[in-house]
Amino acid sequence: MEVINDNNCSWINDLNLRTNIQTLSSNLICEWLIIGAGYTGLSAARKLGQLYPNQKILLVDSQLAGEGASSRNSGYLVDTTLNDGFSSNKELINYKKKTDIYKLGIESVKKFIKEHQVDCDWNECGKYFASSLLEDEDILKNFSDTLSKLGFEHNLLFQEELTNRLGTNFYNIALHTKGGILLHPGKLVRAMIDTLPENVNLYENSTLLNWKKFNGKINCNFKTGTIKTKKVIFATNGFLKSLGVKTNYNFPITLTASMTRPLTDKEFKSIGNPKEWGVLPVRPMGATIRLTKNKRILIRNTAEVHNPYKMIQSDLEKRSIKQKIGLKKRFPQLPDNIIQSSWSGIVSRTRNSSQIFEKIDDNIFVAGCYNGSGIGVGTLFGEQIAFKASNENTNEIETIEARSKPTRLPPQPFLDLGVKVRLMYERIRARSEI
Ligand SMILES: Cc1cc2nc3c(=O)[nH]c(=O)nc-3n(C[C@H](O)[C@H](O)[C@H](O)COP(=O)(O)OP(=O)(O)OC[C@H]3O[C@@H](n4cnc5c(N)ncnc54)[C@H](O)[C@@H]3O)c2cc1C
Repeated sequence: MEVINDNNCSWINDLNLRTNIQTLSSNLICEWLIIGAGYTGLSAARKLGQLYPNQKILLVDSQLAGEGASSRNSGYLVDTTLNDGFSSNKELINYKKKTDIYKLGIESVKKFIKEHQVDCDWNECGKYFASSLLEDEDILKNFSDTLSKLGFEHNLLFQEELTNRLGTNFYNIALHTKGGILLHPGKLVRAMIDTLPENVNLYENSTLLNWKKFNGKINCNFKTGTIKTKKVIFATNGFLKSLGVKTNYNFPITLTASMTRPLTDKEFKSIGNPKEWGVLPVRPMGATIRLTKNKRILIRNTAEVHNPYKMIQSDLEKRSIKQKIGLKKRFPQLPDNIIQSSWSGIVSRTRNSSQIFEKIDDNIFVAGCYNGSGIGVGTLFGEQIAFKASNENTNEIETIEARSKPTRLPPQPFLDLGVKVRLMYERIRARSEI
């Protein structure tokens, strides 16, 4: 199966068209092969290119590099994610392990953009966990307690202040964390493509169909050629399962988002000329919504089990209507036809929300499953899986591996059923927040 994405994503359409796209059309042999050219695969390729300037490194993607979830996300580089409060020290320790990884992720992205002078609309404005429901104060107070124990700067805000800051009176309570960053995800991943080391060869529109280990080498069959490699890194995130990688530990979820055109000066004035901001929901299925640097509003309010390879236009349009309603609830003064584009993207989940970072067999490695934190964690894991595949240990690997591993998923059909029921329950719980 091939990944067929819509051509609608505003983040991608902001960028110049790329030229010199190379597609695999022969049979190749290499030392290193990386499958998947999102943040993870590109970061792994960059690091391997630096570590082995004289070796042949191939990076292959089934679509245009970077145009999967890495360009289709909401652009929050997170330092923290919301957990519902902590009853014991063990849970606090686990939360710390998670945020230690986020911190390293932010450092990796920061280092990359500094080294290559990348302009990706970087804004250290923090983020809001916001709700229209005052009863969510308990959740936020618990969360605040956890953040205080771990030294994260934050503060609780209420309606009037939120209306001033966000330009909508929809939210009644929010917790603002100082440490999150907003950025343009498409510009970031494009910079990772543009700065690949010279000894990395990128092949695009080249789908891996299957692979097999034989006589110590890994033979990979693509639609239009083959590659025999000494070592392979799987960085296909939501598509790991379809390649038979960690099949019982991860599953894909489809998200859809919409973006408005830039607001006119009059429209912007009508929402109070706010500064750029990003809101994450307190209830998991609520809307993620952000005001971008150039006065567009992005909203994401769906997450579902769906065919990860393709979403047909009519399905996308149905989801776009939900996003229109979400916008209208928050900004009734804006015109009805303000949405410029809607798109879908695939993330990968594990049962206990832990990421995958592993050697799964001799010379075969995998990194993925970051849910909503792949910008930083994917960049970090890509670099670090390159070290791990080189048999090198680093402090970062120790931090990554201190976290518990993903737990085994229930078999089908219980898995699909369980996920659907859980998502439905969360959707009902968050119905006012969508
Ligand atoms: C709508 C949305 C909002 C999100 N918001 C955020 C956010 O605000 N912050 C955040 O940190 N994260 C967010 N995420 C998640 C984030 O985008 C991902 O975690 C991240 O992109 C993962 O990067 P990756 O390189 O591992 O995978 P991907 O970017 O998914 O790249 C994997 C690549 O593998 C390729 N591939 C798949 N199968 C094959 C095959 N058979 N052969 C060859 N290539 C193959 C795909 O084409 C793809 O390019 C969001 C995701 C979505 C969809």
